[in-house]
Amino acid sequence: MSTPVLSCENLEAGYGPFRALFGISFEVAEGTATALIGPNGAGKSTVARVASGLVAPSAGRVLVKGVDMSGKAPHEFAEAGIAHAPEGRAVFATLTVQENLELAFRETLGRKGVGAALDEAYEMFPRLKERRTQLAGTLSGGEQRILTLARVMILRPALLIADELSLGLAPMITTEVYRILERIKAAGCALLIVEQHMDYALALSDEVLLLRQGEVTFRGPPSELDRRSASLLSESLSESLSENPPQQEQSS
Ligand code: ATP
Repeated sequence: MSTPVLSCENLEAGYGPFRALFGISFEVAEGTATALIGPNGAGKSTVARVASGLVAPSAGRVLVKGVDMSGKAPHEFAEAGIAHAPEGRAVFATLTVQENLELAFRETLGRKGVGAALDEAYEMFPRLKERRTQLAGTLSGGEQRILTLARVMILRPALLIADELSLGLAPMITTEVYRILERIKAAGCALLIVEQHMDYALALSDEVLLLRQGEVTFRGPPSELDRRSASLLSESLSESLSENPPQQEQSS
């Protein structure tokens, strides 16, 4: 078996004195998708941050393609092949779509690489081409997520960490964003999908990790996700969804 693109070994992490993760271990194999599901506060985003170097673990380690990343900075994780599309609207609101892309591409590819990268991004995401002169802050939530994906995909990562891409999106737009993830996976990129809407994530995933209070309570193929775990999870999710209902938005 080839070396996993990401290995997390006995991760512990927290914020100041607060411990959010208690011994998390899993791997993501090349070109496969893993869904990280669980209720609010379970530690999903913390795992995503540790796996992309944004939060240093207090114990355990992260390996990218077999290389120990202990003590490495987030840009070194990026260079090693990890792309992180964070939770929320991670775009520059007062810049146009094209300026957002140019900025990201210049940072990562240098000035000379920008033109070709733009062509490629517009081919991959035609909706962004249509909107290229529009201020990113005026895009719909779904389009902002697509722009975030375009900003990170150009690096041809080995693994994309997608954190709550569906947050605040209407179901139709979520479906579209997930179709893009499907294409990204089909192109050979592995995925770590952090998601509260588990139906979308499970449909795309080869493996699922259920997190509760910083611990893995289930790891296996989605088809084996124990019915009881799934229904308990749905209950806690519907509670959190009724507190934070998705925004309605237009599909165009
Ligand atoms: P959600 O779906 O609500 O984002 P999650 O499963 O992603 O939940 P995390 O965001 O990883 O959970 O949070 C795990 C725990 O760590 C929670 O108790 C949370 O309050 C705490 N936490 C997260 N970020 C911080 C932070 N920056 N400072 C302090 N505590 C934090």
